[in-house]
Amino acid sequence: MILGFAEYIWLDGNNPTQTLRSKNRVIELEEETFDPAAFPEWAFDGSSTLQATGDSSDCILKPVSVVFDPIKGEGNFLVMCEVYEHNKPHKSNYRAQLRKVLDAGADKHEAYAGFEQEYTLYSGSTPAGWPADAYPAPQGPYYCGVGTDRIAGRELVDAHAQACLDAGIMICGTNAEVMLGQWEFCIGYRGLEHDDNNILSACDHLHLGRWLLHRLGEEYGLTANFDNKPVKGDWNGAGCHTNISTKATRDPKTGLKAIKEAISKLEKKHTEHIKVYGDKNDERLTGDHETCSIHEFKAGNSDRGASIRIPLGVNQKGYGYFEDRRPGSNIDPYLVAARILTTICDIDENVFTVGKKLKKVTA
Ligand code: MN
Ligand code: MN
Ligand code: MN
Repeated sequence: MILGFAEYIWLDGNNPTQTLRSKNRVIELEEETFDPAAFPEWAFDGSSTLQATGDSSDCILKPVSVVFDPIKGEGNFLVMCEVYEHNKPHKSNYRAQLRKVLDAGADKHEAYAGFEQEYTLYSGSTPAGWPADAYPAPQGPYYCGVGTDRIAGRELVDAHAQACLDAGIMICGTNAEVMLGQWEFCIGYRGLEHDDNNILSACDHLHLGRWLLHRLGEEYGLTANFDNKPVKGDWNGAGCHTNISTKATRDPKTGLKAIKEAISKLEKKHTEHIKVYGDKNDERLTGDHETCSIHEFKAGNSDRGASIRIPLGVNQKGYGYFEDRRPGSNIDPYLVAARILTTICDIDENVFTVGKKLKKVTA
């Protein structure tokens, strides 16, 4: 028998950007398992998370993805949940939107996803490493830098990466970013022996990775910020480049052709995509700082000023994946994955209902 804690993690009703919530319960399991079905449904007070009114406040947590809890240790678990009200997904449950798109035919395309999650560490009200009342030296030396004068927050970054690895989260790596105090961790299908290639899992793992970053930040007195443009002016914003492949783009016989077809479909749906690519992403997608303007769609080989980039290695091999550089740091990966698959897998637009309710982002 295992007696341990299960930390139930879910997304709240904050609009336009949801935040993570969690609470834990003691569980008894016959043996160690990561099967969500072994974890009971649970309830929470939705009136405290912008998900219900006080007179009917119970929302349901349905476990959907389980990893090891690297903080509490052996016999403890992190449990990603979907939120339900009565028997249907709550309107804030965008994972259900992704499931709908997969069920409507996208699952046949066997899409894999990888997310390059950029974020900014804050110490109090300034980015980590920044002087209290001044700017640090201009950008240049910080990206992938090393040394006390170039780096801030690495202890947390390294602890977080190790925690993700120990948890069984599909982390690929980390790097220091262009702005001092800004970092990136990558999560997605790696093709390793125990990896789950289901696109839902890649998205679940990104949220679990974010939760661990917030949680470990508490130990280091640092706050992870996912704003797309945390500091105005000549400082890079933070994005969440989304790498996507399908069976057809990975096939040496059809790869580049399928990638180009996907890009031409994406071009026609640019506005629909931008609606779910993060709040205040217009502040980041200015056309400067390694981005394309939010008002334009450009595709290119190895072009960091493009909306969609075909990486050099993919172009040379003739198959693989492409990178959508538009999603901002504060995206919901479920929504971005659902939107991309709706477009490139020709799913009926009526299946993708979420973005239609969100406010318009473009001017
Ligand atoms: Mn990157
Ligand atoms: Mn980056
Ligand atoms: Mn990238």
